[in-house]
Amino acid sequence: MIFIFDLDDTLINTKKIKKEIKKIFDQDDKFDYYYQKFLKKEKLFNFLNFLSFLKTEKVIEEKNIKKLQKQHKDFLKNTSLISQETKNKIKNIGKNHDLILLTLGEKKYQREKIKSQKLDSYFKKIVITKEKKENSLNFLQNKKDTTYFINDKKAENKIIKKKFPHFHIIHIKNEKDLEKFLCKF
Ligand SMILES: [Mg+2]
Repeated sequence: MIFIFDLDDTLINTKKIKKEIKKIFDQDDKFDYYYQKFLKKEKLFNFLNFLSFLKTEKVIEEKNIKKLQKQHKDFLKNTSLISQETKNKIKNIGKNHDLILLTLGEKKYQREKIKSQKLDSYFKKIVITKEKKENSLNFLQNKKDTTYFINDKKAENKIIKKKFPHFHIIHIKNEKDLEKFLCKF
């Protein structure tokens, strides 16, 4: 069987990362404002680029960038965004099946998140794409294996199902959903 896992809000708790980043701001809605403004401009999130953006927006000063960058790196390194139990389950499934990690985002930052949670070794293939997820899966088009696509985004899941009708789509709403699914194997 083939298992294709999404990263953010599927395998890892990305809300925890956002909560951490919010600490830069004195009010939550300020974060939302600048976060949306940044995404409009850059499309994909990278923490360092976000800091540069905040500097040009005069939210933070140049002299604080290095410190904030280090804090964020340490946060990612020292925070578990996925439980050890879940990791063990994935590791076990990987012994008998092909595991693919497919994530949409900026390469460097996504890689940093994957590495910080020590997830790299669990997957046969890691795909970080800037474009639509469905375009990264053409290599699976003619594979007849039972394939699970595990992802939190409904709209993406719909498109994937259309392009790959034989995929089993597992819509993940929270950590419990993921645990429940993994328990079957
Ligand atoms: Mg996601």
